[in-house]
Amino acid sequence: MSRRAIVSGGSIGGLFAASLLRKSGWEVTVLERSETELSGRGAGIVTHDILNRLIRETGATTEDLGVQVHERVVYDRSGHEVARRPLPQVVTSWDRVHSLLRARQPAGSYRLGVNVTGYRDRGGSVQVMTDTGSIEADILIGADGFRSAVRGQMLPQVQSIYSGYVVWRALANEADLSEQVRKSVFPYFALYLPSGTQIVGYPIAGPGNDLRPGHRRFNFVWYLPVESEDLRDMLTDSAGRQHGLSIPPPLVRPDVAARGAALARRLLPPQFVEILDKSEQPFFTPIYDHLSPSFAAGRVALAGDAACVARPHIGMGVTKAACDAEALARHLATHGDPADALAAYSDERQPAARLAMDAARRLGAMIFEGQGANSDGRSNANMECIVAETAVVPVQG
Ligand SMILES: Cc1cc2nc3c(=O)[nH]c(=O)nc-3n(C[C@H](O)[C@H](O)[C@H](O)COP(=O)(O)OP(=O)(O)OC[C@H]3O[C@@H](n4cnc5c(N)ncnc54)[C@H](O)[C@@H]3O)c2cc1C
Repeated sequence: MSRRAIVSGGSIGGLFAASLLRKSGWEVTVLERSETELSGRGAGIVTHDILNRLIRETGATTEDLGVQVHERVVYDRSGHEVARRPLPQVVTSWDRVHSLLRARQPAGSYRLGVNVTGYRDRGGSVQVMTDTGSIEADILIGADGFRSAVRGQMLPQVQSIYSGYVVWRALANEADLSEQVRKSVFPYFALYLPSGTQIVGYPIAGPGNDLRPGHRRFNFVWYLPVESEDLRDMLTDSAGRQHGLSIPPPLVRPDVAARGAALARRLLPPQFVEILDKSEQPFFTPIYDHLSPSFAAGRVALAGDAACVARPHIGMGVTKAACDAEALARHLATHGDPADALAAYSDERQPAARLAMDAARRLGAMIFEGQGANSDGRSNANMECIVAETAVVPVQG
């Protein structure tokens, strides 16, 4: 029986799908739109046991995956510690996970610069259209991210929903930080939880996965409400061009970055202001989410962010994409008909994604609860819940 799969999208979701399908005997080609190797996208990634297991299932190692943190520490506006809770976790970077998986792709199976434009499901096979021609396969996996072209054809009604807030992200070199910040914040999963804004930060490896003390970086994540009208302005570059859902970091206008920095000085504890000041090119991303009502139609399936984006509070984007890939490979191994396998995959993973999306929405809503009170971050009524559930795999309640 022929078993040929095309994966659209060569980021983490696509690489997990390719690796795990290949392991169960599929011949897989990954088509990635980017002309150049992907790197430096995103920043920190929180890992979970299930993610570590699935990385190992691809054949990659999880040795030296990232930095081990042991505790979560909450700070107030003046930078004093409010609470400390044990929660061991390994925190790593997008680059690290991507390069581990990318290194395992056989030569010729990963094609850069190929833009998937659509598909035709012929019943017994699927024709995948690209900018440069078409390819015949048994199945197509759309792992082409939150603006997925595959989803755009399969489920054109699915739209990303703006959450009402953005996230500013930045990376500061450990070596550039003052001794006080290196001691009081750097080793921890750090949080600042006043009403109306939120900070999460943690150490990750330095460039080239350098885990040596003094060579690592601190990953800074700052959630901040922005009205839709202001967002449109923030998404407009210096040439007056308005970018749809997000703007490439180098195109963020200097006055937008300066306003962000001024706001940080007004709102944040001194340690986080220092981290932000010492970061190279902080950038913002509007927070959206979406959930496809089905993850498959015939011989075509969606995986990772193409299928569902949960807000980042649960730190599950990569783990969810890995779990999608595992379920795809398992169902394809146990059903004779690929369309039946993909339908079973959808039945399993769509409700799991809903659970993740709802859990992330609940955590996101807590940023705005108790407006007015708790302006110094000392009396957040949801503190225990936020500390226990941020970047943790949600369980059915
Ligand atoms: C602020 C923030 C913090 C986050 N923190 C975490 C965290 O702590 N932990 C975590 O697990 N996740 C986190 N995430 C989410 C995580 O980055 C993604 O969920 C994860 O990378 C899975 O993405 P993906 O591979 O499905 O899609 P993407 O990474 O979006 O990749 C899609 C790929 O498809 C390619 N592509 C697009 N269209 C086409 C086309 N037509 N043809 C061919 N190729 C195409 C793109 O070039 C891209 O390479 C965070 C996200 C944000 C915004």
